[in-house]
Amino acid sequence: RCNYTVMSAVRSDSASTCSVFTKFQNDCETPTPFLRNVADAISDDMRAGLAVEGGGDLPMILTYVDALPSGKEEGLFYALDLGGTNFRVRSVQLGGKQERVVAAESEQLSIPKELMIGTSEELFGFIASNLANFVAKEKPGRFQLETGKKREIGFTFSFPVNQTSIVSGTVIKWTKGFKVSGMEGKNVVACLNEAMEAHGLDMRVSALVNDGVGTLAGARYWDEDVMVGVILGTGTNACYVEQKQKIPKLHSKSSSGTTIINTEWGGFSKILPQTIFDQELDEESINPGEHLYEKMISGMYLGEVVRRVLLQMCKTTDLFGQSIPVKLSTPFALRTEDLCKMQEDNTDDLLSVGTILYNIFEVEANLKERKRVVEVCDTVVKRGGRLAGAGIVAILEKIERETKRMASGQRTVVAMDGALYEKYPQYRRYMQDALVELLGHSLASHVAIKHTKDVSGLGAALLAATNSIY
Ligand code: BGC
Ligand code: MG
Repeated sequence: RCNYTVMSAVRSDSASTCSVFTKFQNDCETPTPFLRNVADAISDDMRAGLAVEGGGDLPMILTYVDALPSGKEEGLFYALDLGGTNFRVRSVQLGGKQERVVAAESEQLSIPKELMIGTSEELFGFIASNLANFVAKEKPGRFQLETGKKREIGFTFSFPVNQTSIVSGTVIKWTKGFKVSGMEGKNVVACLNEAMEAHGLDMRVSALVNDGVGTLAGARYWDEDVMVGVILGTGTNACYVEQKQKIPKLHSKSSSGTTIINTEWGGFSKILPQTIFDQELDEESINPGEHLYEKMISGMYLGEVVRRVLLQMCKTTDLFGQSIPVKLSTPFALRTEDLCKMQEDNTDDLLSVGTILYNIFEVEANLKERKRVVEVCDTVVKRGGRLAGAGIVAILEKIERETKRMASGQRTVVAMDGALYEKYPQYRRYMQDALVELLGHSLASHVAIKHTKDVSGLGAALLAATNSIY
């Protein structure tokens, strides 16, 4: 393995474009035996996190969701979804086993950047005022609240939360570029309640859930074989159905049955193929040292890793000509969507790759450069997809050790949500390849990865119904 070309004032010839790239490519490699070690290390951390609080990188959070939706849920419920690029409000009229979802309405807004790093009052004020607008617009005919009932909410809050009951918990840490002040040690639900009160809203939170839990619950409503909920979007996470007996930290002697565990696998940090670019990205992030796995596999970061590699290639070689394009130094200028669009170009001359590079960085890239850029994208996306696959395998193998369901031929479904998975075919393929490589064809043939778009809101509303106080 070679070293990166030392940055020098004199930009050298294109031969060393190759050396920066070649070293990067080598460092990002994830051959099967290596991936196997990653899956095993994740598995070890899962076990450690279930044994004692803080036992491993994965907190393995108890969600207090023991009962998954049965289909029998009835009534009007709401869902709030906070934690990624968008904020969503919805209402769902549930009609029981036969009718299921009778009516549904939803509204989506993107979260203003300043609210992601503002105060808790600002963020929750924004949520409550949008919720108030939404409820005010409700058409009474389609949605019916039973008399004497309050409107109940399932609140999907997509950050690591130390859950103390189904309706309370405190933020463990912020991720995905959020850093909201004034919430240390404070109950997330209390923050929302205060804001709702200030807006004259008489609603009640009946379930506080992670988006992974919401996805699992929402998907389970339609399909009883769903055992895992995975998010591959701005951020990443996985939640799954665990046997209570296998959770030593539950300390409950009579623990039979199952419960949902929120792994918060984004926090995994061992034996990852970290390069200097990943290290620098991490150091300059809002949460340095944390969520390293997430920083290698999720949508918020893939484009940024590529930008950093291109910048270094540009500094040390003649990539993009003699001067360094200003925009190439702007953090997050290259988005994961852009990588995806460039990889979509399967023409020989890569003209649309050229256009994208021109639009973002104001560079005229020749064919050789355009090819190189696509190779960098592919390297980062391949590493991300394969590492995500290893995580899924770790969870499936744990379920299999305890239930033997796949070996006995039972279909096992991973409900998947998130724009990265949905919109990036190469990423999807790399993930799937890794899954089959590690699991083997025989077990893998009983696994279905099911794209369940936006079911986390439905899941949260269902869990509000399950945990309704009325
Ligand atoms: C958070 C998780 C969340 C995931 C996907 C991560 O950054 O830590 O709680 O489920 O993003 O939204
Ligand atoms: Mg989301």
